[in-house]
Amino acid sequence: MAGDFLIRSRKAAIVAGVPTAVELEGMLRAAALRVTAPRVAVLAAVHAHPHADTDSILGVVRSELPTVSHQAVYDVLRALSMAGLARRIQPSGSVARYEARVGDNHHHVVCRSCGTIADVDCAVGAAPCLLPSDTERGFVVDEAEVTYWGLCPRCAPAPATD
Ligand SMILES: [Zn+2]
Ligand SMILES: [Zn+2]
Repeated sequence: MAGDFLIRSRKAAIVAGVPTAVELEGMLRAAALRVTAPRVAVLAAVHAHPHADTDSILGVVRSELPTVSHQAVYDVLRALSMAGLARRIQPSGSVARYEARVGDNHHHVVCRSCGTIADVDCAVGAAPCLLPSDTERGFVVDEAEVTYWGLCPRCAPAPATD
Protein backbone atom coordinates (compact mmCIF):
# COMPACT_ATOMS: atom_id res chain seq x y z
CA MET A 1 0.00 0.00 0.00
CA ALA A 2 2.67 2.49 1.03
CA GLY A 3 4.83 1.30 -1.83
CA ASP A 4 2.03 1.94 -4.26
CA PHE A 5 1.65 5.48 -2.91
CA LEU A 6 5.37 6.05 -3.47
CA ILE A 7 5.30 4.77 -7.04
CA ARG A 8 2.37 6.97 -7.97
CA SER A 9 3.98 10.00 -6.34
CA ARG A 10 7.04 9.53 -8.50
CA LYS A 11 4.89 9.17 -11.59
CA ALA A 12 3.05 12.39 -10.77
CA ALA A 13 6.38 14.17 -10.33
CA ILE A 14 7.45 13.09 -13.81
CA VAL A 15 4.17 14.14 -15.39
CA ALA A 16 4.32 17.59 -13.79
CA GLY A 17 6.33 19.99 -15.90
CA VAL A 18 6.49 23.75 -15.75
CA PRO A 19 5.57 25.40 -19.06
CA THR A 20 7.54 28.37 -20.32
CA ALA A 21 6.21 31.93 -19.98
CA VAL A 22 5.21 31.88 -23.65
CA GLU A 23 3.29 28.63 -23.15
CA LEU A 24 1.58 30.01 -20.04
CA GLU A 25 0.52 33.12 -21.94
CA GLY A 26 -0.83 30.91 -24.72
CA MET A 27 -2.89 28.95 -22.20
CA LEU A 28 -4.39 32.15 -20.79
CA ARG A 29 -5.26 33.43 -24.27
CA ALA A 30 -6.75 30.08 -25.28
CA ALA A 31 -8.98 30.29 -22.22
CA ALA A 32 -10.00 33.85 -23.19
CA LEU A 33 -8.22 35.34 -20.18
CA ARG A 34 -6.27 38.57 -20.58
CA VAL A 35 -2.54 38.02 -20.04
CA THR A 36 -1.37 39.82 -16.88
CA ALA A 37 1.80 39.37 -14.84
CA PRO A 38 -0.07 38.04 -11.77
CA ARG A 39 -2.00 35.53 -13.90
CA VAL A 40 1.18 34.24 -15.56
CA ALA A 41 2.97 34.03 -12.19
CA VAL A 42 0.09 32.25 -10.44
CA LEU A 43 -0.37 29.79 -13.31
CA ALA A 44 3.38 29.06 -13.27
CA ALA A 45 3.25 28.48 -9.49
CA VAL A 46 0.30 26.10 -9.83
CA HIS A 47 2.23 24.11 -12.45
CA ALA A 48 5.42 24.06 -10.37
CA HIS A 49 3.77 23.19 -7.04
CA PRO A 50 0.92 20.71 -7.51
CA HIS A 51 -1.64 20.74 -4.67
CA ALA A 52 -0.24 23.94 -3.12
CA ASP A 53 -2.57 26.04 -1.00
CA THR A 54 -3.28 29.73 -1.55
CA ASP A 55 -0.66 30.92 0.97
CA SER A 56 2.07 28.78 -0.59
CA ILE A 57 1.17 30.04 -4.05
CA LEU A 58 1.18 33.61 -2.72
CA GLY A 59 4.70 33.06 -1.37
CA VAL A 60 5.95 31.75 -4.70
CA VAL A 61 4.30 34.56 -6.66
CA ARG A 62 5.66 37.24 -4.28
CA SER A 63 9.22 36.06 -4.93
CA GLU A 64 8.63 37.39 -8.43
CA LEU A 65 5.99 40.09 -7.87
CA PRO A 66 6.61 41.36 -4.31
CA THR A 67 3.65 43.74 -4.18
CA VAL A 68 0.92 41.33 -5.29
CA SER A 69 -1.89 41.08 -2.73
CA HIS A 70 -3.44 38.00 -1.18
CA GLN A 71 -6.77 39.05 -2.68
CA ALA A 72 -5.26 39.34 -6.17
CA VAL A 73 -3.81 35.83 -5.97
CA TYR A 74 -7.10 34.52 -4.62
CA ASP A 75 -8.98 36.18 -7.51
CA VAL A 76 -6.56 34.79 -10.10
CA LEU A 77 -6.88 31.26 -8.68
CA ARG A 78 -10.64 31.57 -8.92
CA ALA A 79 -10.46 32.81 -12.52
CA LEU A 80 -8.03 30.03 -13.49
CA SER A 81 -10.29 27.42 -11.91
CA MET A 82 -13.38 28.76 -13.65
CA ALA A 83 -11.52 28.82 -16.98
CA GLY A 84 -10.42 25.21 -16.54
CA LEU A 85 -6.70 26.00 -16.28
CA ALA A 86 -6.51 24.96 -12.64
CA ARG A 87 -8.41 22.49 -10.54
CA ARG A 88 -9.36 23.27 -6.98
CA ILE A 89 -9.44 20.43 -4.50
CA GLN A 90 -10.24 20.55 -0.82
CA PRO A 91 -9.81 17.30 1.09
CA SER A 92 -11.72 17.16 4.35
CA GLY A 93 -9.80 19.08 7.04
CA SER A 94 -7.56 20.84 4.50
CA VAL A 95 -7.60 24.32 3.04
CA ALA A 96 -8.27 24.62 -0.70
CA ARG A 97 -5.43 23.47 -2.91
CA TYR A 98 -4.79 23.95 -6.59
CA GLU A 99 -3.24 21.94 -9.38
CA ALA A 100 -2.67 22.30 -13.11
CA ARG A 101 -3.50 18.69 -13.92
CA VAL A 102 -7.05 19.28 -15.09
CA GLY A 103 -9.64 17.45 -17.12
CA ASP A 104 -8.73 13.85 -16.29
CA ASN A 105 -10.83 13.50 -13.13
CA HIS A 106 -7.86 11.91 -11.33
CA HIS A 107 -8.14 11.15 -7.65
CA HIS A 108 -6.04 11.97 -4.61
CA VAL A 109 -4.49 10.09 -1.75
CA VAL A 110 -4.01 12.06 1.46
CA CYS A 111 -1.75 11.22 4.41
CA ARG A 112 -3.75 11.35 7.64
CA SER A 113 -0.62 12.19 9.58
CA CYS A 114 1.20 14.97 7.66
CA GLY A 115 -1.38 15.98 5.06
CA THR A 116 0.81 15.15 2.04
CA ILE A 117 -1.33 14.80 -1.09
CA ALA A 118 -0.49 12.74 -4.17
CA ASP A 119 -2.29 12.08 -7.43
CA VAL A 120 -3.90 8.73 -8.08
CA ASP A 121 -4.80 7.83 -11.63
CA CYS A 122 -8.25 6.51 -12.34
CA ALA A 123 -8.55 2.84 -11.57
CA VAL A 124 -11.01 2.14 -14.36
CA GLY A 125 -10.68 4.33 -17.42
CA ALA A 126 -10.68 8.02 -18.10
CA ALA A 127 -13.68 9.28 -16.15
CA PRO A 128 -14.83 6.75 -13.61
CA CYS A 129 -17.90 6.93 -11.49
CA LEU A 130 -19.55 9.51 -13.70
CA LEU A 131 -22.39 7.08 -14.23
CA PRO A 132 -23.64 6.44 -10.72
CA SER A 133 -24.65 2.84 -10.26
CA ASP A 134 -28.03 3.69 -8.82
CA THR A 135 -29.56 6.79 -10.35
CA GLU A 136 -28.49 10.39 -10.95
CA ARG A 137 -31.85 11.55 -9.57
CA GLY A 138 -32.17 14.07 -12.38
CA PHE A 139 -28.71 15.60 -11.85
CA VAL A 140 -26.35 16.14 -14.79
CA VAL A 141 -23.10 14.74 -13.36
CA ASP A 142 -19.77 16.08 -14.68
CA GLU A 143 -17.32 15.24 -11.92
CA ALA A 144 -16.73 12.48 -9.42
CA GLU A 145 -14.36 13.00 -6.51
CA VAL A 146 -12.60 10.11 -4.81
CA THR A 147 -10.18 10.68 -1.94
CA TYR A 148 -8.09 7.85 -0.53
CA TRP A 149 -6.86 8.29 3.02
CA GLY A 150 -3.86 6.57 4.56
CA LEU A 151 -0.26 7.13 5.61
CA CYS A 152 2.47 8.35 3.28
CA PRO A 153 5.80 6.46 3.12
CA ARG A 154 7.43 8.89 5.58
CA CYS A 155 4.65 8.54 8.15
CA ALA A 156 3.92 4.82 7.77
CA PRO A 157 5.67 2.63 10.34
CA ALA A 158 8.67 0.85 8.85
CA PRO A 159 8.03 -2.83 8.13
CA ALA A 160 9.40 -5.09 10.84
CA THR A 161 12.78 -6.60 10.03
CA ASP A 162 14.38 -9.53 11.76
ZN1 LIG B 1 2.68 11.68 5.97
ZN1 LIG C 1 -3.96 16.12 -8.31
